[in-house]
Amino acid sequence: MDKWPIGVFASVDAGLGVKLEVAKELGVPTIQLHAPHAASRTKANAEAFVKRLDQLGIQLTCVFGGFEGESYADIPTVASTVGLVPPATRTSRTKELKEIADFARLLGCKVVGLHIGFVPHDTKDPLYRQTLDVTRDVCDHCAKNGQSLHLETGQESADSLLQFIHDVERPNLFINFDPANMILYGTGEPIAALKKVGRFVKSIHCKDGKWSPEPGKTWGQEVPLGQGDVGMENYLRTLKEIGYDGPLTIEREIPQEPERQKAEIGHAIRLLTDIRKKVLA
Ligand code: MG
Repeated sequence: MDKWPIGVFASVDAGLGVKLEVAKELGVPTIQLHAPHAASRTKANAEAFVKRLDQLGIQLTCVFGGFEGESYADIPTVASTVGLVPPATRTSRTKELKEIADFARLLGCKVVGLHIGFVPHDTKDPLYRQTLDVTRDVCDHCAKNGQSLHLETGQESADSLLQFIHDVERPNLFINFDPANMILYGTGEPIAALKKVGRFVKSIHCKDGKWSPEPGKTWGQEVPLGQGDVGMENYLRTLKEIGYDGPLTIEREIPQEPERQKAEIGHAIRLLTDIRKKVLA
């Protein structure tokens, strides 16, 4: 694989990504995939999907876990509904995430991605301990599959994330860095954060956003790539600085407007292709 191949976030029947056909139309060589619903995660479907990717010449670089009942409506709702942190759903979701990892293995994919949820900032909080335990459990399951677990950034500051990864103590735990999420959740200036956590960054999203007037309290606004506060050239220069050479996976979370989503991703591909050329020159 060349350095920094372009990618898109894709989905089959669950999640916010584009359809595989759109990825093909856009001509991208890689995708990250939102895990399909449980009923679709069969061996036969996995085989058919692998064949289809082969035909399209698209490489799958990460399978993202997601769960029924998660809502990104506002920041407090994320805290109470997303990932493995909320206690009420933790056992069933942990089981499901392991099934998703096994499905990713059937797809030949060595990376499982996840929004783990809001990890408590107080390391003495019992919920913090519990989140460490469940993350270890999932990491160990992934390790048996020869996989890594990548935590999506957003809900934690760079320092909290480093502390958490340190405390989990598993060699296959890494970061999927999303610069826009740092802005949308108000958890820190993304370039400074990327420099801090760089050694753990093994996959990334290319997404843009604008700061909320009340960072951390209300959502910032996701916008088309290049129109937000991330600073795409600076982002790619920093990725080069930290030695990242994996895919540049574009995420544009407006699946309710598929035509606009496709057009804006098309624009993002051209933008990233230009900046990549300049930065790698
Ligand atoms: Mg993301």
